[in-house]
Amino acid sequence: MSAVVKLTGVIKRFGTVEVLKGVSFDVAAGEVVALIGQSGSGKSTALRCINRLETIQGGSIEVCGHRVEAPNLNIRALRQDVGMVFQSYNLFPHMNVAENIMLALRRVKNASRSEAMETARAVLAKVGLLQKIDAYPEQLSGGQQQRVAIARSLAMQPKVMLFDEVTSALDPQLTGEVLRVMEGLAKGGMTMIVVTHEMAFAGKVANRVVYMNTGRVWEVGTGDMLGKPQTQELKEFLANGL
Ligand code: ADP
Ligand code: MG
Repeated sequence: MSAVVKLTGVIKRFGTVEVLKGVSFDVAAGEVVALIGQSGSGKSTALRCINRLETIQGGSIEVCGHRVEAPNLNIRALRQDVGMVFQSYNLFPHMNVAENIMLALRRVKNASRSEAMETARAVLAKVGLLQKIDAYPEQLSGGQQQRVAIARSLAMQPKVMLFDEVTSALDPQLTGEVLRVMEGLAKGGMTMIVVTHEMAFAGKVANRVVYMNTGRVWEVGTGDMLGKPQTQELKEFLANGL
């Protein structure tokens, strides 16, 4: 089976500083990979390279058949296949939930208003927020706003979704409701790469855990590896947290 996402020896520099030093891992269809590691280890940069928000200086990245580092990459086609959700939800405050979700469908996919509305209803049902379809972002909790952001990404029917610390700004109760939505997506077969500090989630939901340290993939395994780390670095990371 071919990988949905495949990084091979990826090198990323900012000026003279090398922040990814030959990163390789791949993600099969329907697989959930948790990307963990200390702050500054290169997790966000790796995600941003996958979506071509950053260019790379060495190695290769293949995503849904796109050669991401190729000069002639069709970025628009790549971004249609890859959904990304960040810590900040970035909903438009002057638009209600339905309008926030419909915007890209109308502009990028040229969906009719009624088609877009139908999709908005379907994805809101998936994240358990259909009853908030007419609400404005300020009327929602942080967890609800993040679930809308996930729904907005889902509406574009991505083949793979990238999550970058999507619960880091939320208190524990709201974190739980967002993680449950992500677990539901995982069970539904979505291919996902999840940067997270939620070790319980990584251990339980991820098919594979990739531990990054100083710009390198340091340890890879199933969720069980969190219970029996092989390297001193992962041991210390799990003991000390961030
Ligand atoms: P993580 O997400 O694991 O916390 P990042 O990928 O954000 O780590 O950062 C990895 C390293 O790259 C850090 O040392 C960070 O300071 C550096 N870095 C990230 N983005 C930039 C940038 N745009 N310019 C310069 N350095 C950057
Ligand atoms: Mg980060």
